[in-house]
Amino acid sequence: MKSWPEVYIPTIDSKYVFSELSLFNSASKSIQVLPRKDVYRMYVCGITPYDSTHLGHAATYLTFDLVNRYLRAMGSQVLYVQNITDIDDPLLERANRDGVDWQDLAHSQIDLFRSDMTTLHVIPPAQYIGAVEAIPLVTNKIEELKAAGAIYGVDDDLYFRVHSDTDFGSRSHLGKEESLKIFAERGGDPARAGKEDPLDSLVWLAQRPNEPAWPSIHGQGRPGWHIECCAIALNYLQPEVNSDFLIDIQGGGNDLIFPHHEMSAAQARVSTGRNFAQLYVHTGMIGLNGQKMSKSLGNLVFVSTLVNSGVNPMTIRCALMMHGYATDRMWSNDLLRDAQVFLDSLTLQLSQSQCAPTSDLIQDIIQALSSNLDTQTVFALLQTWIDKSSQGSEGGNPGELSRALDALLGIAL
Ligand code: ZN
Repeated sequence: MKSWPEVYIPTIDSKYVFSELSLFNSASKSIQVLPRKDVYRMYVCGITPYDSTHLGHAATYLTFDLVNRYLRAMGSQVLYVQNITDIDDPLLERANRDGVDWQDLAHSQIDLFRSDMTTLHVIPPAQYIGAVEAIPLVTNKIEELKAAGAIYGVDDDLYFRVHSDTDFGSRSHLGKEESLKIFAERGGDPARAGKEDPLDSLVWLAQRPNEPAWPSIHGQGRPGWHIECCAIALNYLQPEVNSDFLIDIQGGGNDLIFPHHEMSAAQARVSTGRNFAQLYVHTGMIGLNGQKMSKSLGNLVFVSTLVNSGVNPMTIRCALMMHGYATDRMWSNDLLRDAQVFLDSLTLQLSQSQCAPTSDLIQDIIQALSSNLDTQTVFALLQTWIDKSSQGSEGGNPGELSRALDALLGIAL
């Protein structure tokens, strides 16, 4: 599937020192260093195209954009793959509810997502892969799992035996009861008769009446969600042969920790005999007015709505980056106003011929980003620089700082 346009990334002077990037790994529940490498492999789960692009989505893709930008600025190559679940139950349910064709809904939402990512200045993935186009990869992956004894049928559907992975549960750390509850809430079917274990996950859904389906060696049907990501990641990221891990980073919102990322990782491990991701990195949810932002509450705030109302996309970017990426946090008009005030004063100081010193500032920003993307510290450092500059401090290079903010934070003024 077509990705969105490439983004120009300014280069940063080689005098700056880049420490190895550390990130919070949900699987180990600790901040871990990502060892320096020439090539990193990053897979970030994409949207299901029926409600793009709300601020929760935007916060997630901006976070991994920061990861991408940091690793590239270090001088490494980042192989970045993202999927788009362009066939799944929620998409069909929404299309039915609204009386529209599911493909028309998907195409319009994919276009909107691409447009929003472009507007927000997000570096596109090298491969942007839809579930439908990945069906041959999924059927191959099911065959591999079948050969490993990890697949069984219920009626004409196929399920993955989660306990064929002896490490199942090690990335999400949930008790049995909690696993079952969350599994049911997030598209699982723990109560289905005929399953060997309530947590076993669907990998192939045989055609249902009035639903789309595609031919395969497993019959007419469509892929399950978790195996879609496993198959796409392993095919397009071309894992290293001599590494303990197939890929470096599996990313997404923290609502994907279980079951989605646990299942994909388990399927990857069973089908290859190797561990899936070195780090599982998750972003916090964005709430509104003290409540979780969600489809069911109908309180989603969309990037396109804000931009169409005249909000500068860079203001949205700043507002979503001002606080730590991993924590659940609230969106508010106050936050948007704070970000606008910040951006206006930053723009003003960068447009002056004289400004406060910038070399140490750029180095400190790099250091803060290396420390689990500490954007809160980055914005505090920038605010101090703005204050000093407005008080007449001199000796800095505003052009160099502008390029560094563009390269590292994606703030293009
Ligand atoms: Zn995924």
